[in-house]
Amino acid sequence: MASIFSKIIVGEIPSYTVAESEHFYAFLDINPLAKGHTLVVPKEEVDYFFDLSDHRLGELQIFAARIARSMKQVTNCKRVGQAVLGFEVPHAHLHLVPMNSTSDLDFSRPKLQLSSEEMSQIAEAIALNL
Ligand code: AMP
Repeated sequence: MASIFSKIIVGEIPSYTVAESEHFYAFLDINPLAKGHTLVVPKEEVDYFFDLSDHRLGELQIFAARIARSMKQVTNCKRVGQAVLGFEVPHAHLHLVPMNSTSDLDFSRPKLQLSSEEMSQIAEAIALNL
């Protein structure tokens, strides 16, 4: 069965798209730790991030770095942190989170509730700044 992220990639489930390439897709996390929190996903269905091939991991990190640079400018944060969790969705993904302090990457913190207008606006701003 296709993972929820595969359904997002093919447009069966809507998402706030940030970037897309032949092998990767990036979109906003619907339960963001910070405004602009983005997920970077390989289009191939692999459960655990570190089971991706070295080649794909390298490509993904370069793809993610472009997005992180854009996120940093658009959100005016001090750093963009990245994290691999994967406890909820069994389709490899990298979290990119705007940070101003170490605690901003604490996934046990309450998530933000942003309107769809705010989500669309931040996704578009990051995309336009790539
Ligand atoms: P984890 O698998 O532990 O890395 O967590 C999966 C992440 O995916 C969580 O932060 C969720 O908020 C996020 N997520 C789950 N479903 C969606 C969706 N339909 N659109 C965007 N983000 C999602």
